[in-house]
Amino acid sequence: MNDRRRSLPAVSTLLEQAVDAGLTTRAPRSVVVDAIRATLQQARQRSGEPPPEGWLAAVEQRVIEQSRRSLRRVVNATGVILHTNLGRAPLARAARQAVDAALGYSALEFDVAAGTRGSRQAHTRSLLQQLTGAEDALVVVNAAAAVFLVLNTLAGGGETLVSRGELVEIGGRFRIPEILSKSGSILVEVGTTNRTRLRDYELAISPRTRLILKVHRSNFQLTGFVTEASTAELVALGRVRGIPVVHDVGSGLLISLEEYGLGGEPLVQHSVVAGATVVFSGDKLLGGPQAGIIVGPRDVVSRAGGNPMARALRPDKTTLAALEATLALYRDPERALAEIPALTMLTAEPRALKRRARRLARRIPGAHTAPGTSAVGGGAFPGCELPTTLVTVAVESCEAFVGALRQHDPPVIARTSEDRVVFDVRTLGDDEVAVVAEAVRQAREKA
Ligand SMILES: *Cc1c(COP(=O)(O)O)cnc(C)c1O
Repeated sequence: MNDRRRSLPAVSTLLEQAVDAGLTTRAPRSVVVDAIRATLQQARQRSGEPPPEGWLAAVEQRVIEQSRRSLRRVVNATGVILHTNLGRAPLARAARQAVDAALGYSALEFDVAAGTRGSRQAHTRSLLQQLTGAEDALVVVNAAAAVFLVLNTLAGGGETLVSRGELVEIGGRFRIPEILSKSGSILVEVGTTNRTRLRDYELAISPRTRLILKVHRSNFQLTGFVTEASTAELVALGRVRGIPVVHDVGSGLLISLEEYGLGGEPLVQHSVVAGATVVFSGDKLLGGPQAGIIVGPRDVVSRAGGNPMARALRPDKTTLAALEATLALYRDPERALAEIPALTMLTAEPRALKRRARRLARRIPGAHTAPGTSAVGGGAFPGCELPTTLVTVAVESCEAFVGALRQHDPPVIARTSEDRVVFDVRTLGDDEVAVVAEAVRQAREKA
């Protein structure tokens, strides 16, 4: 064995120094001991060379890293608004406050006025009825669960008709044919990939047909020689043949954004008016917490709520608190656009983005601004490119630089393009411009 390795300090010696430096008041003793062992191990791997920053500093750095939360705040400088890896929709201030208020004891299943047991669904039911026009509403943990629950409730043991153009994969292994099979229903494919007419559904109906399912092609577009039956047509057919229609609209858009040049996403209200049972996500375009929402005819929603699986998929108090507060903002659509971050970012004025980009570029020596585009993400408005202003910084190695930006606290997540690191200010809060600039300064220092 080489001598330097033999002369490494003992764990007990380093622990004494760490105790003297107050490390054990900042982290549990076991964490400090683990940090010492890991630091020694690393030195052993470097043939016994001590850490360049000194033993105590190296141990302290490890203690800080190990005490850090894993699920922590990050700064999204990618411009992708509904970034699934970064938690999709950021919550409105009102929703954050509502979550905080519900964290202790809350009226989750308690009717405060009557002093009796209440329903956790009551907090969001009437808002959803008002906003969508539906007779009834049910909230579960996410839209995948909502689809599963309605399929299992309405079509378990029977057949479900789905257009061949709508047998989609949403991502994260959520595939319509597979969820349908898991729900206990049998898939009957209707029409072709590009064209499915009402007549195709009509011909596919058998005595075993329990449901017609329509699915929004959230994350891709079908253009060219294309035909599909509308929700209203399907509901009319279903009424005559006694078959319910479920429309999985995906993103949960409650306000038309056509005047901002954002078309093509189905409005929840349209499918409700058409008479379908509608399923959508809480944390996509709705801009709330992760949730799956079912709205529609009272008998359908109440059957879904009575399914034993509904108990397994029920949302917790933080979800319901955030959802209630988010939905409440929609009672005034202007307020929703101003206060729900996903909507504010979607409809941000190009001039405001340019100003913010210039503000960031001024704080980063050598940075440039350039016109570019942002993506919506979350499988909403696919193919839509929102005009934005990017801040670009030339770097030696993109990979090393974005790695260093992730080392910052809070981590800054950026895009890259060839030999430049690219920041899209669309998804930055006003107070985050300074954070990004500081992260760049530190990353340059490390390089
Ligand atoms: C996103 C999406 C889902 C799944 O929603 P989650 O809330 O992520 O479970 C289901 N259907 C469609 C059409 C979607 O776009």
